[in-house]
Amino acid sequence: MTLQGKTALVTGGGRGIGRAICLRLAKMGAKVYINYVAGADTAEAVQREIADFGGQARVLPFNVADAVAVAEAVKTLIAEAGAIDILVNNAGITRDGLLARMKEEDWDAVVDTNLKGAFLCAKAVSKQMMKQRFGRIINIASVIGCTGNAGQVNYAAAKAGLIGLTKSLARELASRTITVNAVAPGYIVTEMTAALSEEARAQLLSEIPMAVLGSAQDVAGAVAYLAGPDGGYISGQTIHVNGGMYM
Ligand code: NDP
Repeated sequence: MTLQGKTALVTGGGRGIGRAICLRLAKMGAKVYINYVAGADTAEAVQREIADFGGQARVLPFNVADAVAVAEAVKTLIAEAGAIDILVNNAGITRDGLLARMKEEDWDAVVDTNLKGAFLCAKAVSKQMMKQRFGRIINIASVIGCTGNAGQVNYAAAKAGLIGLTKSLARELASRTITVNAVAPGYIVTEMTAALSEEARAQLLSEIPMAVLGSAQDVAGAVAYLAGPDGGYISGQTIHVNGGMYM
């Protein structure tokens, strides 16, 4: 129970990787705020799962790309919990398509959710973290932010941007004992990757030295390490969780 007494906010915590992170942090003793934007049912199900093993969790709906909503939600959280120790910027979407056919709104939606959302959430929690001189900010990037991928200029740009944001913010906040890191998953079995065709899946597996897709738990493990006491001297880093796909 190394996170006993700590409060965590996980954006997009109701399913997939975010769900696994919420469960993991709650099992380590943290009080977890599960953010969602549309999926109330799944977020509430995660809250019940956590309560079932004696953990503490609340749901906190807001759109990470909406500055006013983010600020209000974080204010509510801090008023209720008294602190915010861990922020996991996990919420993310894809709107894939080749550049020639990609609509401006597909670019905006992905950059707003995946990059601006992390900026807004980090900004909203940073004041309290600086005041308490402690914090852990963990941004869920992607292998695609490092390798690029045809059909994902929006997603790759947002995730590469997230890694730049991570390094800059790590420098800004280090003197207050706040670490900022990124976790970059490879291909993980979630709803986001469920749409892959058999052909695409076979192609992917051929590019992964370990020859299997990862699980949400694999990503949650890296987040737990960075959030916990063993991660205290790690900042500005990107931890790749990808079966060796990108080194
Ligand atoms: P899912 O599609 O399963 O879940 C996405 C989550 O993000 C949902 O909980 C969703 O909430 C939330 N979300 C989306 N938009 C917003 C928003 N505007 N405000 C708040 N929450 C929002 O995705 P994964 O679990 O697969 O991915 C999680 C993260 O990991 C993403 O950042 C993704 O880019 C990254 N990643 C995933 C990989 C994979 O292979 N799956 C690989 C590399 C990175 P709601 O349920 O309310 O819609």
